[in-house]
Amino acid sequence: MQGSLFDQEENTPTSENNSVSSAEELAQLQAAARECRKCRLASTRHSVVVGEGNPFADIVVIGEAPGAEEDASGRPFVGRSGQLLGKILQAVHFEREEVYICNILKCRPPGNRNPLEDEIECCMPWLLRQLQIIKPKIVLILGKVAANTILANKLPMGIMRGKLIRWKEFDCFVTYHPAALLRNPNWKRACWEDVQLMRRHYEKLSGMETLHEK
Ligand code: URA
Repeated sequence: MQGSLFDQEENTPTSENNSVSSAEELAQLQAAARECRKCRLASTRHSVVVGEGNPFADIVVIGEAPGAEEDASGRPFVGRSGQLLGKILQAVHFEREEVYICNILKCRPPGNRNPLEDEIECCMPWLLRQLQIIKPKIVLILGKVAANTILANKLPMGIMRGKLIRWKEFDCFVTYHPAALLRNPNWKRACWEDVQLMRRHYEKLSGMETLHEK
């Protein structure tokens, strides 16, 4: 079942016109996703939190699902987790604005419960399309739920984090979700190592030299 999640679905917006830029394609996707009523979450959401950031980003960050503040504002990662995510990115010299941030689910599950399988199945084509449009060099996956969903496994965080994982045409890194770090600050060290690893990989891909490599 998981394999088919990432296949193009009939209702997923596509561009027949190759000259349409990533920004326009993302804007079209955003407009289409805002109308989505494919699952039950359409009846409880206040906003469809499609994603935000640089349409030409080298890095796409993927969380699990919007929380209450994201549902209210229509923007991903704006609550406490979002503030911590901003600091994590800055710690490895990325500004929030230069990456693209989104979630597996675009609508908030009531009470922040975990996404249900049919909700994931309905929503994944949006994420896949976002990745197809942006074509990032690197995907940073936040937390076990998002990682198990994207990588179609049931592995624990300890196995998935701390390494480069190739998924489809993307180089992925998995680290702890900022909300988990707020609950358990002992995991911050591991997260720091994960994002440093991601930074080094980014620099390798970009052919950049860093001070500490000199
Ligand atoms: N947690 C997530 O996984 N995504 C958000 O956008 C906010 C909190």
